Amino acid sequence: TGSAMPRKKKSSSGPVIELANVTKEYGHRDTLLRALNDVSLTIEKGEFVAIIGPSGCGKTTLLNILGLLDTTNDGEYAINGVPVDSLSSRRRAHIRSHEIGFVFQSFNLLPRMTIIDNVALPLTYTHMPRYRQLKAASRLLKTFDLREREYYMPTQLSGGQLQRVAI
Ligand code: ADP
Ligand code: MG
Repeated sequence: TGSAMPRKKKSSSGPVIELANVTKEYGHRDTLLRALNDVSLTIEKGEFVAIIGPSGCGKTTLLNILGLLDTTNDGEYAINGVPVDSLSSRRRAHIRSHEIGFVFQSFNLLPRMTIIDNVALPLTYTHMPRYRQLKAASRLLKTFDLREREYYMPTQLSGGQLQRVAI
């Protein structure tokens, strides 16, 4: 309740992710395709879960929904006990930026930005002063043993280094 964003509400008890009877369809009429059919899934805090299945079975569709990048046609989805289906796009964006992280196989770094600018990029959407953004990015890079690479460009790093930058 109140004006606070739904962050951390009920986070100490109950599942982190709760999906109940979710359906997702693409297209309509002749092109209608049901990518998710009555999917229910509960993930508790601290659990590691892998979603596996043949190509085209709906894994990416499910991850897009879990990551609040897409919406469902039917069913319920709650993150830390907060139903997210009816939230405004602004609130969904807030949850995305504060509670959800994607690690992409292809890194998705911006090729024309330095390593430290890539890491600091999400912070440019906050009100944090620029020098503090860079300080925070620098501290993180140090944690990942990438301190000496701060002002390199992505093309100058190895695959493993790029993955750590992305994370
Ligand atoms: P996976 O990631 O498991 O390979 P997807 O979730 O990408 O599968 O796709 C599930 C099904 O939904 C596939 O049959 C795919 O062709 C279809 N599909 C995925 N995205 C779209 C879309 N944007 N429009 C129409 N059909 C889609
Ligand atoms: Mg996929």
